[in-house]
Amino acid sequence: MNIILLGAPGAGKGTQAQQIKEQFNLKHISTGDIFRYHMRQQTEVGMLAKSYIQKGQLVPDEVTLKIVSIALEEAGNQNFMLDGFPRNINQAIALDKIVKIDKVINIAVDTSVLMDRICGRRNCPECGRTDHIAHMTTDVCPTCGAKMVQRSDDKEETVKSRLQVYNNETAPLIEYYKKEGKLFDVNGMSDPSIVFAEVKKVLE
Ligand code: AMP
Repeated sequence: MNIILLGAPGAGKGTQAQQIKEQFNLKHISTGDIFRYHMRQQTEVGMLAKSYIQKGQLVPDEVTLKIVSIALEEAGNQNFMLDGFPRNINQAIALDKIVKIDKVINIAVDTSVLMDRICGRRNCPECGRTDHIAHMTTDVCPTCGAKMVQRSDDKEETVKSRLQVYNNETAPLIEYYKKEGKLFDVNGMSDPSIVFAEVKKVLE
């Protein structure tokens, strides 16, 4: 089974991806994670991606498509879950040419709550764990003990651009996949465990 997780920044794609990965044994391909890895390693791709990510803009399709096709190939082009890709129609068309997508899960969250979710988000740079400051008593990661930090693109000004980019470029994908009969809407406003119960129903 090959799936896509669709949703605005802060919709909970990463949180759901962790659970889906464990229960459905799908390879998790997150373009954001791949770009952050390249930035940490200071590769050529990382340096280029950084200049766009810091402004809340999309990394050019040419670069993004290259890293995705490598990741897909590593996954044997099957049993994968794409998280954060595609992010525009051009990427979706390119993806359709290389693999078959079975289901697209659209995690829907009201715009008004996205800003609070993202700006309050803290990430563990070591293990990838994400928590919200409202539920944290310490900045020590409960999973691995590293220091939890705020992603530089989770600051308010950058988040505004990211949400705008989502509305203009990514949201049209909802119609694109609806037309293909692959879209499943999930209400992302509830507790992550309740959202996951809905996701499970779609995937089973
Ligand atoms: P994410 O972790 O998915 O929120 O991605 C963080 C940032 O990486 C985005 O704001 C973009 O700048 C970049 N990025 C991630 N995925 C893509 C993509 N499919 N196309 C272009 N840029 C991307």
